[in-house]
Amino acid sequence: MLTVTPYDDLSAQLTGRVVTPSDPDWDAVRGAFNMRADLRPSAVVLPREVEDVVAAVNYARSRGLRVAPQATGHNALPLGSLDDTLLVDVRELQDVAIDAAAQRVRVGAGVKWELVAPRLSELGLAALHGSSPDVGVAGYSLGGGMGWLARKYGLQTNSVTAIELVTADGEPRRVDATHEPDLFWALRGGNGNYGVVTALEFTVYPLEELYAGVMFFPFERASEVLHTWAELTPTLPDEMMSWASLLQFPDAPFVPEPVRGGSFAVVYGAYLGSESDGRGLVRPVRDLGPAMDTFAMVPPAALGPMAMDPPDPLPFESTTAMLTDLPSGGVDDLVAAVGPESGSPLALVELRQLGGALAHRSPGAGARATLPGTISLLALGVAPDEPSAATARGYLDALDRAVRPYHAGDYPNFVERQSDASAFFDADTWARLREVKALYDPSDVFKGNHHIPPAD
Ligand SMILES: Cc1cc2nc3c(=O)[nH]c(=O)nc-3n(C[C@H](O)[C@H](O)[C@H](O)COP(=O)(O)OP(=O)(O)OC[C@H]3O[C@@H](n4cnc5c(N)ncnc54)[C@H](O)[C@@H]3O)c2cc1C
Repeated sequence: MLTVTPYDDLSAQLTGRVVTPSDPDWDAVRGAFNMRADLRPSAVVLPREVEDVVAAVNYARSRGLRVAPQATGHNALPLGSLDDTLLVDVRELQDVAIDAAAQRVRVGAGVKWELVAPRLSELGLAALHGSSPDVGVAGYSLGGGMGWLARKYGLQTNSVTAIELVTADGEPRRVDATHEPDLFWALRGGNGNYGVVTALEFTVYPLEELYAGVMFFPFERASEVLHTWAELTPTLPDEMMSWASLLQFPDAPFVPEPVRGGSFAVVYGAYLGSESDGRGLVRPVRDLGPAMDTFAMVPPAALGPMAMDPPDPLPFESTTAMLTDLPSGGVDDLVAAVGPESGSPLALVELRQLGGALAHRSPGAGARATLPGTISLLALGVAPDEPSAATARGYLDALDRAVRPYHAGDYPNFVERQSDASAFFDADTWARLREVKALYDPSDVFKGNHHIPPAD
């Protein structure tokens, strides 16, 4: 006898697949980067082409299901319950087309930065990717995208020139500054709330080489390193992006041999200029006498692995905040909370300098035009079980308390918890995002990682 499963009628319309809880690869397919996310959608759809996405959206709408679009699952925790929801996972949309002369790239929505950045580098070009080659272009770009060149060129979302998507009515659309500009505006910051994106086009920038690298100091020197970095950053030009981190590396193969298993205070830099100018800019940090110093003139491909982010899924607890500034007393409080004498097991406490182009709305910018504050904080603790999660949470809470006086806002791509997304936008932007949502998705079919409901 033929058994009919609930999604057979959808499967029959697809070149790709529908994966349900009864399939052997269900757990592999529904797994997210943060292994503390336990995604339980009704089914996962893996489209191979735009028509598959159209079929999935029409199917969901006609049966009263919601649709959560996803590319790599790097920001899955905020999604929350996926009851009565199809997870439309675009991982198989893997086209990459580079038009070097036009400085323009078009990618399928499942493409990760690791597939784009090295190829661009060979052509003397750089994209505005972030710290991890494993992150998807789609979610990164739709939520903002703050990377190594951000102080010079701003958020990646505002270098996006066109977006192809399937909206709630099942229509494939291509939107840009002149075609459905309101939707184009909302998508650039509104993440997955407006449709399933199938492809993105964006501008890339000429760059043969830059002065970049990392200085490692013993963890015990965290206080003087962070003080020096915090005093230095206000003097740096927009051509320099600098981060300072407290890193407690696991003894894992993805960590470069010399630092594997060690704990460090580190300062990163990426400078769009000459070696001699770059050396002058980072001199106050170098004068502290790093134990290891990798700064050199490098091609932009070197920025991909520079932050040593984990390439594989792991369970973690995290916190984040954008800070107005971090005065000397703030550095002291941060070091007391999570520095070498605190007993902190946090794998990462990362400060990134903001400002420059991140502080200015560029002409034609989308809903996420800028980031507030002058410093971004992101911290995480690995949490393979509940006791380690509770320990990490305790240190993250202490860190939150230490920086609370300087809280300027949040950057949703870094927020790994369910949140009220209205807090991520000013009142006018939030109202406009809701109006555009009401126009294109009045029944609230699409569930972005940070939810934007339609206007009433
Ligand atoms: C290790 C690590 C390093 C990071 N480094 C940086 C960094 O340097 N700079 C920075 O700015 N951010 C960084 N992030 C945050 C990152 O930008 C977000 O996690 C981003 O949402 C990831 O996008 P994704 O497509 O990989 O993930 P996903 O979880 O697949 O996507 C996140 C959300 O984007 C939307 N989305 C994704 N694909 C689609 C689609 N096809 N159609 C419609 N909506 C879609 C959905 O709302 C989805 O829930 C980092 C995250 C991690 C885990």
